[in-house]
Amino acid sequence: MVNWDTSRHERSFDCLIVGGGPAGLAAATYLGRFRRRVIVVDADESRAKWIPLTRNCPGFPDGITGPDLLDRLELQATRYGASLVHDRMVSIRRTKAGFLAGDSSPIRARSVLIATGIVDTLPDLPGATDMIQAGVLRLCPICDGYEAIDKRVAVIGPAEHAMKKALFMRTFTQDLTLLITDPSEPSPDKLTKLKRAGIEIGVCRPNAVCATGREAV
Ligand SMILES: Cc1cc2nc3c(=O)[nH]c(=O)nc-3n(C[C@H](O)[C@H](O)[C@H](O)COP(=O)(O)OP(=O)(O)OC[C@H]3O[C@@H](n4cnc5c(N)ncnc54)[C@H](O)[C@@H]3O)c2cc1C
Repeated sequence: MVNWDTSRHERSFDCLIVGGGPAGLAAATYLGRFRRRVIVVDADESRAKWIPLTRNCPGFPDGITGPDLLDRLELQATRYGASLVHDRMVSIRRTKAGFLAGDSSPIRARSVLIATGIVDTLPDLPGATDMIQAGVLRLCPICDGYEAIDKRVAVIGPAEHAMKKALFMRTFTQDLTLLITDPSEPSPDKLTKLKRAGIEIGVCRPNAVCATGREAV
């Protein structure tokens, strides 16, 4: 349960931010600089922790790791007065004056900002998390497409979603295979699109893909 006994801090805030990933921490910095009293409650599971090295983050031409970026964002937010509690928020109630969060030692806030992000559903591959850390398995073509220029790439996922990603990846490489994880097949017109784009199509069986050093087979 959340320990709200933050006696060093006031327990009444202008804004309670739930989620201390890049979004929540950036909001905390802005609000702090607007001289608002802010508390961030974060369950410590930011997706950014998984980023081995991001190269599309403005201001970091040589890239920055996700954990480093989070440290910097945390430092910036707390420098401007935000309080940070590492815990999971389980209840928030509306009151006349605003919001009441937590049970045993509640926190009051005039406003609440939800910045809880999303949770990834990883493909059914052995060592998927290790592959992410090694940069062999990527979760976002927007973030990582550039690093795949002219490489041999497999796009894995349910037909409908993965197909769009595979077509998008044609911006970066011609050597593309779509590995479908669900029983559905792309519709005939979509199949034509994929074929026209030169994308091979196959079925991805559970555990069929694994890492070999800096590559996957
Ligand atoms: C492998 C990988 C590589 C990526 N690479 C890049 C990249 O190169 N460039 C890029 O721009 N983006 C990249 N991303 C995406 C980036 O990590 C996300 O866009 C970013 O983290 C989203 O920030 P957020 O603050 O919205 O959510 P998150 O970072 O997910 O933070 C949400 C936070 O809310 C917390 N939370 C949730 N529920 C509660 C609750 N009830 N109580 C308290 N806290 C709660 C979570 O624990 C988490 O800490 C990558 C993501 C992954 C997984």
